[in-house]
Amino acid sequence: MSQIESVIVVGASAAGVSCVRELRQEGFLGSITLVDKDQHGAYERPPLSKQILMQADTTHHDIALISDEELTALNIEAHYGDGVCELDPTRRRITLESGKALTADVILLATGGEARRLPIEGADLPQVLVLRHYEDALNLRQRLTADTRVAVIGGGFIGAETTASLSKSGAAVQWLDAAALPMAHLLPTELCEKIVANHCAQGVALTPHCRLDKFIEQPDGSVSILFEDTTSIEVDVIVMGVGMAPSTPYLSEAVSAELLNPATGGIQVNDNQVTKFSGIYAAGDVAAVTQADGSTLRHEHWQSAQHQGERAAAAILNKEPPAAPVDWFWSDQGDLHIEMAGKILPTKEHLVVRLEGDWPVYFSVVDNRVVGAVSVNNPNAVRAAMRMIKNNVNVEPSQLANPELPLRKLMRG
Ligand SMILES: Cc1cc2nc3c(=O)[nH]c(=O)nc-3n(C[C@H](O)[C@H](O)[C@H](O)COP(=O)(O)OP(=O)(O)OC[C@H]3O[C@@H](n4cnc5c(N)ncnc54)[C@H](O)[C@@H]3O)c2cc1C
Repeated sequence: MSQIESVIVVGASAAGVSCVRELRQEGFLGSITLVDKDQHGAYERPPLSKQILMQADTTHHDIALISDEELTALNIEAHYGDGVCELDPTRRRITLESGKALTADVILLATGGEARRLPIEGADLPQVLVLRHYEDALNLRQRLTADTRVAVIGGGFIGAETTASLSKSGAAVQWLDAAALPMAHLLPTELCEKIVANHCAQGVALTPHCRLDKFIEQPDGSVSILFEDTTSIEVDVIVMGVGMAPSTPYLSEAVSAELLNPATGGIQVNDNQVTKFSGIYAAGDVAAVTQADGSTLRHEHWQSAQHQGERAAAAILNKEPPAAPVDWFWSDQGDLHIEMAGKILPTKEHLVVRLEGDWPVYFSVVDNRVVGAVSVNNPNAVRAAMRMIKNNVNVEPSQLANPELPLRKLMRG
């Protein structure tokens, strides 16, 4: 493509905002338009299951991702509260719900995802909420009084965070998970047991192996949750934390067939965020990225979205892509600050436990190389592990497990 003079970024969140910042940082002088369907514009999503639920006076202004002042300083035209309803990838044109059409030399699709709802009877009742946007969190917060009975469905991080935040806010929380143990698909089992025990000690009532049948609205506005074994519970609010799906309703059937990765539902891109259409890029939770081994991966966390936005900017400007960081994720669950880096392997023989402080640190180690780590209320341990992963440091598992040996010493190999 000849000289690029205009860029449209669809989605003003972690991926989209990091892309527009990076474009300016790298000296791009052309026009940038940042479009988002959300009237509240660019805000951080992680606080939606944390501060926004726990602090009654926190608003979207407190969690803004980019301020109006910065947008002005960077000469970025923000167009909020108007969603894209159609993309013509060959003409690089978007049509907005307002009827307005915009074209550009480059379009970045950073439209993230929408929260899933379980396909069961009653899932569309107004008392059944999800958490993806600011308005979702606000809706939930406004329903909370001292004794609100809430059922949180889902044993992933969003379910765990929501459970902990609501419980801390004084709600009576029932945590319903289809699995035997929440988060066991994400973290070492012993650690999950300890985290879940912590939440239960704060008053959360966990129901594992939960088989939902349907939700029935009662005349007093409460909802009965019926289980397959014919038992039931009554609650005031239900929150479904059962994952998200990439948001691409603006792609026609024909364009979807060209752009989407069928296995993940995301927009297929190469490792420079480039789709098969010239000038069309995708980044963040919506992007299904081809990996070095040919497989496709769609990440759903903040650091990855942010990095992919920067990568897209580099590719748009035909510059060297930024180095890939060690994968990193955090989850705040009440008083617990969990951090993870790299890959936590499910296999026990690769697990090294370091008993340090109140919470053990877990490392995944393969052939004397740390490949992953997870800690609770101990971010320094994960930072040290990230250095070891990045530098491919050779380390004896017995040394890692020894809390007498400072991790910073082991970082040097
Ligand atoms: C409640 C919650 C808590 C989280 N907590 C953590 C955490 O603790 N740690 C962590 O690492 N990650 C966390 N995440 C995940 C993290 O927030 C996401 O990975 C990240 O926000 C993805 O960024 P993104 O830019 O790809 O997409 P998104 O953040 O999903 O943003 C997509 C944007 O596109 C806009 N959009 C969508 N469709 C259209 C359209 N048709 N037209 C115009 N605009 C459109 C949306 O309004 C939205 O602003 C959390 C997510 C949620 C929902």
